[in-house]
Amino acid sequence: MEPFVPQLVYIEPQALAYPLGKELQDKFEKMGLEIRETTSHNQVRGIPGENDLQQYRNAKSTLVVGIRRTLKFDTSKPSAEYAIPLATGCMGHCHYCYLQTTLGSKPYIRTYVNLDEIFAQAQKYIDERSPEITRFEAACTSDIVGLDHLTHSLKKTIEFIGSTELGRLRFVTKYHHVDHLLDAKHNGKTRFRFSVNSRYVIKNFEPGTSSFDERLEAARKVASAGYPLGFIVAPIYMHEGWQEGYEELFQRLQTALEGIDLRDLSFELIQHRFTKTAKNVIAKRYPKTKLEMDEEKRKYKWGRYGIGKYVYPDVQAKDLESTIRGYIQSYFPQAETQYFT
Ligand code: SF4
Repeated sequence: MEPFVPQLVYIEPQALAYPLGKELQDKFEKMGLEIRETTSHNQVRGIPGENDLQQYRNAKSTLVVGIRRTLKFDTSKPSAEYAIPLATGCMGHCHYCYLQTTLGSKPYIRTYVNLDEIFAQAQKYIDERSPEITRFEAACTSDIVGLDHLTHSLKKTIEFIGSTELGRLRFVTKYHHVDHLLDAKHNGKTRFRFSVNSRYVIKNFEPGTSSFDERLEAARKVASAGYPLGFIVAPIYMHEGWQEGYEELFQRLQTALEGIDLRDLSFELIQHRFTKTAKNVIAKRYPKTKLEMDEEKRKYKWGRYGIGKYVYPDVQAKDLESTIRGYIQSYFPQAETQYFT
């Protein structure tokens, strides 16, 4: 798959006060992209499209270059202490994506150029927790790797965290455009994770992302560049033949990673879940989706802010967990499985 190129770019005037803002303006001008000015991302107007669906699709290829005003980082359990805000939104079209609801009516992609302010805040959080390690997750609100060939803000973050003693960085991606990150001075402090799934899930629910083979080739590259490597199997989904589907995934992973030093390999396991709001949004945006979201077949689990979600009932969730843990044990006995949720 080709690297992402926005169809339309908006630039907030304040962003031009930062070197990265100016650099991106010059770059996008040279690329011949349509650039518009906007006072703030909330004022983004005129994304083309004759109806909501078209506007949604066009928004996903619209990039807003702006500054991050709120410097209070969200928490990011269970994988990290904080979410480091580098971008929001994503060019992918995964049907199940939680950004469908968290970004609501603003699905365009935003990248933040006030990196020094963001790093200064991260350093404060690190200092507060010293001598404990502080982990930052960079992919809570976007697929940052899918965007980074344009901005290099992730690369700068990897190098910033690499220069700290107690900071750690992690992110997950479904994109394979990693070449510019291979020479980053990460100092082993960034865990590079790829999102993987059964053939069925990738084929039916992950349009607009890199193929499984492309992701694995990228995984080989980053592991060879010395990054600690991880895989997130998410969402784990009970489709027909899911046991064989997931076993095949681990077989293919094992074959693809032959010869790679896997002493520091991690897995994270996340079962499929949805909220009522997500179900409604997904039905509108991907009306033909095969994604099963029948509340009757799920268990309701209370969540943060009183927003509950539907997960698999306990018996099925245990089956998913023990089956997948069993495959990891067989194919990657040395790996650490960090959690199932
Ligand atoms: Fe969402 Fe990740 Fe898919 Fe992007 S790649 S649409 S962030 S699930």
